[in-house]
Amino acid sequence: MAQLSVECLMSQANRIIQVAVPRPLHAVYDYSVPEDMPIPNVGARLSVPFGRTQTIGVCVNVDVTSPHKSPKPINEIIDDDAAITGELLDLAHWMSAYYHHPLGEVLATILPNAARKGLPFVLEEEDFWHLANAQYTNARAPKQTALVEYMSQHLAEYPVIAGKALVEAGFSRAMINKLAELEVITRVSAAPRRALAAKAPALDASAEQHAAIDAIEAAAGRFEVLLLEGVTGSGKTEVYLQSMAPVLARGGQVMVLVPEIALTPQTLARFEKRFGQVGMLHSALTDKQRLQTWLRCRDGELNILIGTRSAVFTPFKQLDLIIVDEEHDSSYKQQEGLRYSARDLTAKRAHSLGIPLVLGSATPSLESLYNVSRKRYTLLKLPHRAGGASMPSYHLIDLRGQTLQDGFSRTLIDVIRHHLTAKGQVLIYLNRRGFAPTLLCQSCGWQCHCSDCDAKLTLHRSPAQMICHHCMLKFQIPELCEHCGQPNLLPVGLGTQRAEDAVEALFPEVPIYRVDRDTTRTNRQLGEQLDKINEGSSCIMVGTQMLAKGHHFPSVTLVVVLNADSGFLSPDFRAPERTAQLVVQVAGRAGRAERPGEVWIQSYQPDNPMLTRLIEDGYDGFAQEELKTREEAGLPPILPMAMLRAESEDGRLALDFLQTCKNTLTSMGRNQVEVMGPIPAPMARIANRFRYQLMLIAPSRSQLHQLLHGLGRPKVPAQLRWSIDVDPYDAL
Ligand code: ADP
Ligand code: ZN
Ligand code: ZN
Repeated sequence: MAQLSVECLMSQANRIIQVAVPRPLHAVYDYSVPEDMPIPNVGARLSVPFGRTQTIGVCVNVDVTSPHKSPKPINEIIDDDAAITGELLDLAHWMSAYYHHPLGEVLATILPNAARKGLPFVLEEEDFWHLANAQYTNARAPKQTALVEYMSQHLAEYPVIAGKALVEAGFSRAMINKLAELEVITRVSAAPRRALAAKAPALDASAEQHAAIDAIEAAAGRFEVLLLEGVTGSGKTEVYLQSMAPVLARGGQVMVLVPEIALTPQTLARFEKRFGQVGMLHSALTDKQRLQTWLRCRDGELNILIGTRSAVFTPFKQLDLIIVDEEHDSSYKQQEGLRYSARDLTAKRAHSLGIPLVLGSATPSLESLYNVSRKRYTLLKLPHRAGGASMPSYHLIDLRGQTLQDGFSRTLIDVIRHHLTAKGQVLIYLNRRGFAPTLLCQSCGWQCHCSDCDAKLTLHRSPAQMICHHCMLKFQIPELCEHCGQPNLLPVGLGTQRAEDAVEALFPEVPIYRVDRDTTRTNRQLGEQLDKINEGSSCIMVGTQMLAKGHHFPSVTLVVVLNADSGFLSPDFRAPERTAQLVVQVAGRAGRAERPGEVWIQSYQPDNPMLTRLIEDGYDGFAQEELKTREEAGLPPILPMAMLRAESEDGRLALDFLQTCKNTLTSMGRNQVEVMGPIPAPMARIANRFRYQLMLIAPSRSQLHQLLHGLGRPKVPAQLRWSIDVDPYDAL
C-alpha cells in the first residue's frame, strides 16, 4: 500500500510541466498533463487555463517537482513536436535574462503572430508553372494569350514561375487552371529552389571588395563579426551578394536584415535578380504570409531571407551567414514592450551557431566601432565609391545675419538653380514633416500646444489642421490667440510642406516630389515615387529621413541639408552621433553615378566643432572624437546603461514608483552602479500621462545585471506602466 502511493506520487510528479505564458507577471507556471495526453515536448505550444480565461503558452520544462499540491491540468497540446526549439529556445532564455523580461512574453515576441494565436503549423504547398506550349493563342480569350506571352517573356529569367506571381501580375486562378487543363502550362512539382536561380551575373569586384569578400568567406563555419565600413555607394551590397554565393552553393541559408525604410521593391529586386527566390518578412505582411515564410525558412525551403527587425527571430535549418545592412539604424531597436536590439541579437545568434556575421554601414554605430577598437570585431573597409563615382564635396552656408525666403538663403537658391539648369536632380532634406512646427502669437508670444502633451502642435496643410506628433491628436487651426485673443498668429519654422511650397514658388517649372510619412505611408508608395524619380529627369525632392536612407539616386547631383543645427543641440548624448549619421547618409545620395555631387549645409553655427570635424575629417574622424567624449563622460558604449521608465496619469504615482525602485537598488549596496533620477522625461507628458525615468550606469555588465536582477518584479500600481530598457537608444 505504502509503495503504491509513492509510485503514484512519482508518476504525478512526472506529469507536471512548466509553461511560460504571455503575461507580464511571473516567468513560468506549473501545470499537470492529464493521463490521456502524452507529455508535450519542450518548446511545444499548449492551451492552458489561466485565471478565468485560457491562453497559449509554451512548455519550457517537463518532469518537474512542483511545490504546489495539484497544479491545474493543461487543456490541449497544439504542437506534436515543438514550435520553438534548440538555438531559438536558448535565445529566448538568454533574452529573458538580458532584458529582464518575462520568458512568456519573450516567447510571444519570438513566435510569429499566427503561432501566438495557436494556428497550426501547416506549410501550404506553393504551385509553380512551366510553359508547355508557347505557341498557344486564343482569339476569343485575349487574357489567356496575354498569360502565355507574359510567361514567354519571363522564360529567360525564370524557367518556372510561381502561381502567386501570376496572380500578382493580374491573372486569375481560374485562368491558370483553365490553361493547365488545356496543357498549355504544366505544374512543376520538383523543388523549385534551384530551378528559380536567376541569371544576373556578379559584377567585377574591385580589389577592396575582393578583400572583404575573401575575409567573409574565410570566416565560414566559425563565429566572427566583420564590420564592413564602406562609404555610401562603395558597393557594400555587391559584397553581400558575392559573400552569399558560396554559402548558398554549399546548401546553407542566409539571413539579411535591413532597416524598416529600406525594404523597398528595389532592394528585394537586387537580391532576386542574382539568386532567384528570396523570402521576405516585414510588417506589412499578413499573419498568414509571415507564418508561411517563417516555416519555409525553418524547413530549409527558402535559402535567403530578407527582413526587418523582427525577422531576427526566424528559425533556420542551416543558417550559415547573417548580414545586417545599415547596422547603425535605429529601427533595429524595438522601442516598446520587449526592448530588444535586433542587431545585437544577430551577434548572439551568430555566436551560438558558430557562423560569421557581417555588419555593414557607411556610418557605423559607436558600439560597433568600439568593438573594433577592442579587437572583438574585424574591420573591413571600402573607402572608395564603386564604378569610379567620386565622393561629393561639402559646402557650408553661414545663415547668421541672412534674410531667408522660407528657410532658403540667397546662396542656396542660386546653387539649386544652377543644378537644375544643368539637368541635375536636387534632394532637400529636413527632419520635420508638416508645414510649420510652431504657431506663435505675435502679440503676446503664446504658442499653440497639445492639450494632452507637453508639446507644441505642428501646423499641417491639406488637410489644414494642427497635429500633435506625439499623441497624434488633431485640432482645428485657431484663428485667435487663446491667451490674448489677438488674431496675429504666425507659423514659425519650417516643415516639409512649407519647403515644398517654397520650392514650388521658386522653381515652378520643375516637378517636385515630397517624401515623408504624410505622402508616403507604405513601401509600395515609396517604391512608386522612387521609380518615377529614377527615370532621371531633373526634379526636386523634399523629404525627411525617409529620403536619406539607403536609396540609390543615380541622377542626384545636389543634396541640401536645410538646417543642421537642431540635431547637434539636443541634450540626448546620442544626438551628435545620430545627426552625423543622418548628414553623411543624406549627403551620400549625391553623385552616385557619373556626375559628381555637391552637399550644401545651412547652419547658424557654422563653426560648431562637431559639424566642422564631420565635414573635414569625415565620419571616422568624427566618430573617434565622439568615442573619446563618451569615454570621458562614462557613457555607452564604454559603460553599459539601463533605463527604468514609468508613466501614469497621476504623475506622483510614477515618481514614487521609481523612487521605490531606486531605494531597492541603492539598498543593495557595495555596487558601484550610478543611479540617476528619477527625473521627468524630456517629453514630460504624452497623451495625458506623466513620464519619469531613472538611469543606471554600471562599471560592468555583470554588475548592471546583478542589480536589475535584484530589483525583482516590484509591486506595480494598476494605473502605472513601467519598463526596463537595457541598452536604451533614446537615453533622454
Ligand atoms: P552601397 O550599398 O555601399 O551604398 P551599392 O551596393 O548600392 O553601394 O553600390 C553602388 C553602385 O555601385 C550600384 O549601382 C552598384 O551596382 C555599383 N557597383 C557596386 N560594385 C561595383 C563594381 N565592382 N563595379 C561596378 N559597379 C559596382
Ligand atoms: Zn497672444
Ligand atoms: Zn499630444
